[in-house]
Amino acid sequence: RDIAQNLKGNYGQLLESKLKSIKNTLNYIGEAVLEVYDDNSEQIIHWMNEKAIQTFGILLHKNISRLIRKDIWDNIYEEIELHGKSAKTKINISNMHFELLVSCHFSNNIETMLLILRDITTYQNAILTEQRKNKELENELNILQSVIDQQNNIVFVSDGYNLLSANKKLLDFYKVSSIDQFQQKYINISKTFIEHESFFHPNENSTQNWIEQIKTLPKKNRIVSIFDLDIFEPKAFNLQVDKLNSDETKYIITLTDITEINLESQKYHFHATHDALTQIYNRSYYFEKITQAIEYATRYNAPFCVILFDVDHFKRFNDKYGHLIGDEVLRSISKTIKLHTRKSDTFARWGGEEFIILVEKSHIQKAELIAQNYRKLIANIKIENVEPITSSFGVTMYKDGDTEKVLLKRVDDALYEAKEAGRNTVVTKL
Ligand code: GH3
Ligand code: MG
Ligand code: MG
Repeated sequence: RDIAQNLKGNYGQLLESKLKSIKNTLNYIGEAVLEVYDDNSEQIIHWMNEKAIQTFGILLHKNISRLIRKDIWDNIYEEIELHGKSAKTKINISNMHFELLVSCHFSNNIETMLLILRDITTYQNAILTEQRKNKELENELNILQSVIDQQNNIVFVSDGYNLLSANKKLLDFYKVSSIDQFQQKYINISKTFIEHESFFHPNENSTQNWIEQIKTLPKKNRIVSIFDLDIFEPKAFNLQVDKLNSDETKYIITLTDITEINLESQKYHFHATHDALTQIYNRSYYFEKITQAIEYATRYNAPFCVILFDVDHFKRFNDKYGHLIGDEVLRSISKTIKLHTRKSDTFARWGGEEFIILVEKSHIQKAELIAQNYRKLIANIKIENVEPITSSFGVTMYKDGDTEKVLLKRVDDALYEAKEAGRNTVVTKL
C-alpha cells in the first residue's frame, strides 16, 4: 500500500522495473491487488494477487467490469485521465465495502493500472451501525424532549450555576427563545427568586450554590416565588430537586405552580395566628412564642419580659360612645403599639381590651421603659369627638424555673396593682 500510495511522478518508472520482484511481496499483503491493461479501449485484468483471487475468484483476462460496475469504473477512469495518475474512492462489491486506490503508469506505451482494494466492510458496517444507533438515540431524545416540553411544570437541568437544559415551559415563562438567551438575561435562575420571608432565597455569602442550599431545607419548605411576566404578579412554586443519574453535580429541577394552594395556606395561617378585629397576633400565637421563649431562655440564659396591659374603664367608655367606637379605639391602640414594637417582639391581643407583649432579650428596666412609652402613646391617641383613653400596665421578667402560668400570674398581679394604684400607670413585679 505504501508503494502504491507513492505511485506518483517518476516513481512509476522505478516501480515498473521492480514490479516483477515485488509481485511476490504483494501476494503477502492484506489488500487485494490487481493489474489492469488498456487493450483497445478495454480494460482487461492482467494480474491478481492471492488476496484478490481469494476475494473475487480468478478473473484473469476478463474485463474489469466483471469486478467493478461499468458506470463506476468509467468515472474512476475519467478521473485518472483528468487529474493525473491516481484516484481514490470507496466502492461496494457484492455485500462488501472497499477503499479503492488506482494508480496508473505507462509500460511500453501500454497504459497499466494498479488497483488496490482494501476491505473496509467491518469498519463501514461499524460506522453504519453507529449512525443508526445515533439516529435512534436522537429519536429517543426528541421524544423525551417533547414529553418534557408538554409538561405543565417548568423543568430544567442545572449544576447550581448554569442552566444546562430546559423545557419549553421555562423558555415561555421567562420569555426567552433559548438557553443562551436565558443565561445572558438572568445569569442564574436563582436571581429570579423573589426575596421574601415565606420563600427560599439563596444566601449570597454562602460557599454553597443555591441548589446545595435549598437541599438543606425540609421538602415542604422548598418553595420559591418568581415574578410572572404574563400577569405581572409573583407566583409561588414548589421546587423539586432530583440528582441526574449520570452526573453527581447536576440536578433536574421541577417547579410546580402552587400559587393558589400557597395563597390559601397563607390565608389560613394568617387567620389561625391573628385576631380578626385588630389584625395583630392572637392569644394562640402568643402561646407558641412564649413556649419558644422559655425554651430559649433556659438553654441560653437569655432574659426576656412580658408586658400585659388593659384599657381603663372601657365598659364605661363603651356605654358612653357605643360598641363601634369602642372597636375603633381597640384598632387604633393596636395600630399604634404595633408601629412601636420591635420586629423580634410579639404583640398580641390577649382578649377583650387586654393586650400582651413578649419583649425578647431584655431585662426588667428596659421592659419598664417600653411599657411607659406605650402608656404615653395610648394616652395621646386622638379620636375626633371622643375623650382620650388610658391603659394600665403590668411588667415582669422571666425567672429560672418559671412556667407560662407562673409568669402570667405574676404579670397579671402587676397589672392588678396598677389598677389599684389609680390606673394609667406601670407596675413591675419580679
Ligand atoms: P378597668 O379599668 O377596671 O379595666 O375597667 P373596664 O371597664 O375596662 O373593665 P371591665 O372588665 O369591667 O370591662 C371590659 C369591657 O371591655 C367590657 C366589654 O364590653 C369591653 N370589651 C371587651 N372586648 C371588646 C371589644 O371587642 N369591643 C368593644 N367595643 N368592647 C369590648
Ligand atoms: Mg379587662
Ligand atoms: Mg379594662
